[in-house]
Amino acid sequence: MPQILPPDFYDAFLSKEAKERKPSPIRGLFPLEATPGLISLLAGKPNAATFPFTSVQFTARSPSDPAKETTSTITGDALVEGLQYGPTAGIPALLEWLYGLQEKSHNRKRSADWRINVGSGSQDVIYKAVHAIINPGEPVLVESPVYAGVIPMFQTLNSEMIEVATDAHGIVADSLRSTLENWPAGKPKPKVLYTVPYGCNPTGMTATVERRKEVLALAREHNFLILEDDPYFYLYYGSAPRPASYFALELEEPEVGRVLRFDSLSKILSSGIRIGFTSGPAALVTALDSHTATANLQVSSLTQVITATLLNSWGYDEFLKHTETVSQFYKGKRDVFEAAMQKHLGGLAEWTPPESGMFYWFKLLLPAASDSDSEGDSEALIRTKAFENGVLALPGTVFLPNGRKTAYVRASFSLLEESQVDEALKRLREVIVDARK
Ligand code: PMP
Repeated sequence: MPQILPPDFYDAFLSKEAKERKPSPIRGLFPLEATPGLISLLAGKPNAATFPFTSVQFTARSPSDPAKETTSTITGDALVEGLQYGPTAGIPALLEWLYGLQEKSHNRKRSADWRINVGSGSQDVIYKAVHAIINPGEPVLVESPVYAGVIPMFQTLNSEMIEVATDAHGIVADSLRSTLENWPAGKPKPKVLYTVPYGCNPTGMTATVERRKEVLALAREHNFLILEDDPYFYLYYGSAPRPASYFALELEEPEVGRVLRFDSLSKILSSGIRIGFTSGPAALVTALDSHTATANLQVSSLTQVITATLLNSWGYDEFLKHTETVSQFYKGKRDVFEAAMQKHLGGLAEWTPPESGMFYWFKLLLPAASDSDSEGDSEALIRTKAFENGVLALPGTVFLPNGRKTAYVRASFSLLEESQVDEALKRLREVIVDARK
C-alpha cells in the first residue's frame, strides 16, 4: 500500500499568502445551516422569492443518438440553488458527480485525504494554486514550451521559470534529472513542476506512461509537487491506448499526494459555461477555497446547476460517449490539417502530428539569421508577413518562458473547414517560400 502524505507535509509547500489568509467567517459556517431544527440568522443571502426567474430550460443533444434532443427544466429547489449563493467549493450535486468521474477516469476513490473544488474554468484554479504555493521570487519548473496562460502568473510573482525540455514523448526526464542534480547550492528548491500531459498546448504532444513515471519518481526524490493541467485529457485520439494520468499513476508510487490535477469542461461541454475543477491533496485544495472565499466567493451557481443537471441526466457512460465523439471530431480536423501540412509545408517545416488536443506545433525551415540564432525566428514572418498575406497564427516565442527566438509556430485547427485549412496553409507556404529566397 502506498503511503498517503499527511496534511502537515504541505506546510512546507503553502505560500505565506495562503498561510496568512484567514478563512471567511461567514462562508466557513455555511455547512452548519443544514443542522436539523436550526434557525439561521447567518448569511446575507437575498430572498430568492424576489428573483424574477421562474424556470431555466435548456435542450441538449443525446450523446448516443445525436439526432435526439432532450429538454431539461430547472425549477423549484434546484432553481433556487442555481440562483442563490452556494458553497465555496462547488454545489453538492456537481461535486458528487465529479468525484464519481475521478474514480472512473483516474481510479481515485473518494477519501478524506484528497478533495475536489470547482473553479471558473481551470485557469481560475491554476492561478489560485500558483498563489497558494509559490512565494514571490521562488523558482518553478515548467515544461518548455509551456502554455502561454501560465507565464504571466509566474512573471508577476517574479518567479524564475526553469525550463524543462520536452519532446514528442513528453518531459525529457533525463534533462529534468540533470537540472535537479545540478541545482545550485543555496538556491531555493523548486516546489512545483507545471505540465500539460495530453495534447499539450502548444506542442500537441502527449506524454508516455514511462516518462510520467520517471517524472513522478523525480518528484519524490527531489521533493516537488506536480501541477497536472489536463484540459485535453478527453480529447485524446492517439492510436496507442490512452496513457494514465499523473493523478492515476501516483497510486502506483510508494507515496500518494504529490499531484494537484486541473480538469476543464471547456473543451467538452462549453468554454463559456466556465467550469473547471481541481483534484488533489485536501490541504492544498482547501487553500484554494480560502482564496475563492475572498476573491469571488464561488463559481456561478447557475452554471453549476445546469452542468450538474446535464451530467446527471447523461450518467458516466453517456458522458464518456460524448467525449469520444468530441475527440473523434478533433481527430477528423487533425487528419485534414495533416493532409494540408503535407501538401503545402512539406520540405518547408518539420512537425510531429498531435495525438490529442487542437494544436499543431511546427518548425519553419528558415535560413539562420546568425550563429546565435541558428534555428531561425518565426516572429516577423508570422506576425507581419503571414498576417499581411491573410493568415494569423502564433509565433512560438509566445510559449517560451524567457521569450527567446524560435522557428516554431503554433496553429490551432479546431474551428476551420477543409477549404479554409487548405487556403491558410497555402498562404503560409507563400510567405515561407518568399523568406527562403
Ligand atoms: N490550461 C491549458 C493548457 C489551456 O489550453 C487552457 C485553455 N486555453 C486552460 C488551461 C484554461 O482553460 P479553462 O479556464 O477554459 O478551463
